Amino acid sequence: LEHWKVTMLGDGGVGKTALAVQFTQKQFIETYDPTIEDSYRKQVLADGKMSFLEIIDTAGQEDYSTLREQWIREGQGFILVYSVTNQTSFQNVDRFRKTMISLHPEIPVFLIIGNKADDAYRREVSAEQGLTYARRHNCEFFEASAKSGQNVEKLFSEVVRQLRAN
Ligand code: GDP
Ligand code: MG
Repeated sequence: LEHWKVTMLGDGGVGKTALAVQFTQKQFIETYDPTIEDSYRKQVLADGKMSFLEIIDTAGQEDYSTLREQWIREGQGFILVYSVTNQTSFQNVDRFRKTMISLHPEIPVFLIIGNKADDAYRREVSAEQGLTYARRHNCEFFEASAKSGQNVEKLFSEVVRQLRAN
């Protein structure tokens, strides 16, 4: 079985853990210790073929820790997450992208995810902004919701598809 390591990166509070938990356990968590860094495992069917996915869920603020740096080095695919309810988290995606690139000899597979798409009332980042940024960096973009489940399966199967093709 293929085995892929995918690392979640993004500001605290954007829903990295909630996305990983929704995908692997089919439940939405309202509160989760923001300092916990963990990994989640799940088999994924993409294009009729199974893969084993290890999802590394990072946490904490973004000054390099040696451990986080090691996780970024080990990651084969990356999910860069912001919250559509937080403009700053969208701006910070660029920092995570640059850190990711600086720790890899070639640009790795990555996706950009605008999470909390269910929360229309608090939206600060338009889908157009996310799309424009993703196009500029040649990567796939989805809005998603760990709460409603919107695009959660899709984003993880897409990262597997791209890792296979890479
Ligand atoms: P992390 O720090 O990036 O791991 O963020 P968490 O997964 O801990 O989520 C932070 C907060 O946002 C929690 O209260 C979650 O319940 C909430 N949250 C996460 N994803 C969503 C979502 O898709 N929609 C909404 N409305 N809230 C979410
Ligand atoms: Mg977390």
